[in-house]
Amino acid sequence: MNTKNKFLLMVALMLAALATATIINVGLNFREFAINSALDKANLTANIVKDGLTSHMVNGMMDKRKYFLDTITQNGEIKKLWIVRGQKVVNQYGPGYSYENPRDAIDGQVLASGTMIKKISESADSVKLRITIPYKADVASRVSCLECHKVNDGDTLGAISMEFDIDSVRNASTITILKIFAINLIFLIIALLILNHYIKPYMDLFTNLRDGIKKAHSGNFSYRFQTTVAGEGREVTDQINTLFQKMEETFGEIKHSLTTFVTKSNLSCSDPLFEAKIIIKELSDIYKFKKTIELDDTKDLVYQRLVTVLKEKYNIKNFSLHEIDKLTKTRLLIYTSGDTSCSSAVDKNADLCRAYRTDSEVVSTDFPNLCESCNDLGHDYICVPFDINDEVSLTLNIIIDDLSAFDTIHGNTTSIKNYLEAAKPVIESKILTDKLRDTSLRDGMTGLYNRRFLEQFIDKLAKQALRGEINYSVLMLDIDYFKMVNDTYGHDIGDIVIKGLSEVLSKNIRGSDLAIRYGGEEFVILLHNSTLEGSLEVAEKIHKEFNRQKFQIGQEVLQKTISIGVAQFPSDAASIWKCIKFADTALYYAKEHGRDQVIKFVPEMFEGEDF
Ligand code: GH3
Ligand code: MG
Ligand code: MG
Repeated sequence: MNTKNKFLLMVALMLAALATATIINVGLNFREFAINSALDKANLTANIVKDGLTSHMVNGMMDKRKYFLDTITQNGEIKKLWIVRGQKVVNQYGPGYSYENPRDAIDGQVLASGTMIKKISESADSVKLRITIPYKADVASRVSCLECHKVNDGDTLGAISMEFDIDSVRNASTITILKIFAINLIFLIIALLILNHYIKPYMDLFTNLRDGIKKAHSGNFSYRFQTTVAGEGREVTDQINTLFQKMEETFGEIKHSLTTFVTKSNLSCSDPLFEAKIIIKELSDIYKFKKTIELDDTKDLVYQRLVTVLKEKYNIKNFSLHEIDKLTKTRLLIYTSGDTSCSSAVDKNADLCRAYRTDSEVVSTDFPNLCESCNDLGHDYICVPFDINDEVSLTLNIIIDDLSAFDTIHGNTTSIKNYLEAAKPVIESKILTDKLRDTSLRDGMTGLYNRRFLEQFIDKLAKQALRGEINYSVLMLDIDYFKMVNDTYGHDIGDIVIKGLSEVLSKNIRGSDLAIRYGGEEFVILLHNSTLEGSLEVAEKIHKEFNRQKFQIGQEVLQKTISIGVAQFPSDAASIWKCIKFADTALYYAKEHGRDQVIKFVPEMFEGEDF
């Protein structure tokens, strides 16, 4: 039974109880009223009879008393009336008429006790009240009884018995009760109808709220509540609707925003809250992973972390991870758990790997013998290719031992790619760092990077910088009047001065900055993520320190000056080569305007040259 019906039933029961109490009360009152009015009538009749008999006695008409008594009973309300003689009267005047003898035990009891007895006898079709009232000798009455009767004051002279029919009262009370019952019933029905009319919209609203909130539990806030209730009910509905609308928009936006951070995994639920929770968890995991690998020293360590993630987060037991050199098309094993469905021929020719060649996932269940290089191990497999940069690519070969795990692992490949995506810039920078260690890219005399390095890597650095929204300051340095050193002191002394400058440079730049010997006594410095003010400060410092440096040549002390041109990448030019050229232009400007100074490039230094 629903709440509304329970409530209506309760109200109905309460009203029914009230009606029953009223009916019982009315019934009892009617009965009491009938008895009391019959008693009053009996007392009145008894007095009339007593007075009548007294006057009959005084007037010597006692023989006519039967007629008198009959006229009293003629009005019909008193069904029967008779008088009985007490023993003392019998003793004095004889037994009287036969009908004046006691007719039953009640008569006898009243004569003996001198107290009134009343008795109600009810049957299915009638209700009768029997009253027997004693007549007592009374000296104080208008005519003293003791004048005629040889009795004492208070003695019982006789009694009068009457029978009243109170059927009519019962009938009247029954009709009244029925009327009350009918009125109550009508009232009950009207009350229930009115209550139902007012409660129904509230109950409908509750049902509506319950349904909407149930949907909201599963993340669906599209439900809009409706009600016919005015006032507070309408206010509550409007407020909940506004709340639901806000929730729907907010969760939609959160979900949308979050999915731009990570590619949506195998989430197929419609609960945006749950989805947001999962995505946030994934984002947080990936963030922690990225922060960790950023501090790892080598590329191998980053690969190891990836392997750990695959094993522990994705619970993949059987897999191999390879690195492919795109230039030589060779493949290098990074990790294998043992089994691999891949032929070793791929190691020498990466194009044999379908996943790498097509740059798309290869799922063995899609088609029989899908990859030509797959060894038939009797297991299914999933191969995921992942591009790191123009030179390196990764391939992940997952062997599925247990088919029940297939869908889970397959569904997780999108999420795994999120990790690879997070690792990509770190792996890329490690590859670059590895290359930077290459000695063929260094200048033998100063140990700094050489021009070959600049030519080989400057474009990659610039691309990375643009992608990562970082900038470089380009410093171009040249020793002033260096030829004079060679000419005056010889080449070896010239070399010492060049080395002296390179030491000043190394001392004044950070690990992330790059110092390159660009030409004979010309250097390029790339300051990583430096502001213009910061780069000018570094340039001034280098300028000052080198100028202060003293080279002892026999008895002589040699001091040289340098000129520095500064340009900012990418604010001065979107091409790094253009920036180097701008720094060179600023250097030329410095040389032209007195040397021994730091000059920042400004476009006015150009005179119509186009790059
Ligand atoms: P400026 O102030 O205009 O720069 O005048 P400068 O004399 O320095 O002119 P420039 O920069 O053109 O001179 C470069 C000279 O550096 C030319 C070359 O003989 C000398 N040089 C180049 N490489 C080396 C080297 O490895 N060792 C020595 N000792 N000299 C070098
Ligand atoms: Mg010079
Ligand atoms: Mg020079």
